[in-house]
Amino acid sequence: MTALPSLFLSHGSPDIAIADTEAHTFLGKLGRELPRPDAIVVVSAHFEAGGVAISGDKVPATIHDFGGFAKELYEIEYAAPGSPALAERLACMMRNDGLAAGVVRDRGFDHGTWVPLHLLYPDADIPVVQVSVDPHAGPEHHHRLGRALEPLRHENILIAGSGSMTHNLQKAFAAFRCGERAAATPAWVSQYVDWMDSKLETGDLEALLAYRDRAPYAVENHPTDEHLMPLFSAVGAAGEGWKARKLHSSCDFGVLSMNAYAFE
Ligand code: ZN
Repeated sequence: MTALPSLFLSHGSPDIAIADTEAHTFLGKLGRELPRPDAIVVVSAHFEAGGVAISGDKVPATIHDFGGFAKELYEIEYAAPGSPALAERLACMMRNDGLAAGVVRDRGFDHGTWVPLHLLYPDADIPVVQVSVDPHAGPEHHHRLGRALEPLRHENILIAGSGSMTHNLQKAFAAFRCGERAAATPAWVSQYVDWMDSKLETGDLEALLAYRDRAPYAVENHPTDEHLMPLFSAVGAAGEGWKARKLHSSCDFGVLSMNAYAFE
């Protein structure tokens, strides 16, 4: 069986689940193009924990962890099953790799998980396990976490990092309040995204791991960087000699890059 690629998806504003945007269209199309996996593991920027927490509920709830959007968005329930067995196995694999990992219960799907999956796999009939990010642990930890997940790609399990290529929420909300979804992208965003693109394209892991010191406007684009961490897990899950393929590029509210990549 050919290994599935690992993915990095920018989930952007939660309303891409219902809004007619380029990223909404892209995610729907991607779901129709990808082979159907037997299970999905999502490293979600909205699942924060120290060490590595793995969701182990059999019937996960849908969490509407956002405010100020249309009522319709709060009515979406992503009813995919969990997989307690896969969660326990993941925790064991990670502990074998020296990571402090454990399974947690009563932890439903946050919007980092269900918004993209609602578009990718609307039938919600594939088991999903969520993996946390540690907002204080940095790129190397998340890359290592991804490496621990790599074997699953050879078992028809899809590994997806869900975060955001850029995530300055203060600037995004300013545009959101004024309804400027198609606002022009400023240079401090495009220069940063171009730098990340070029390092992904050339497979320059050393530069990527040091992005905060080396990328132009890194801190402006990620005042806190938990939303970028799933990218490093997706790269890690592709193993040695990984290659990036850019799947999508667009920008919401001028400052939220919706870029998505596959790694194999
Ligand atoms: Zn988010």
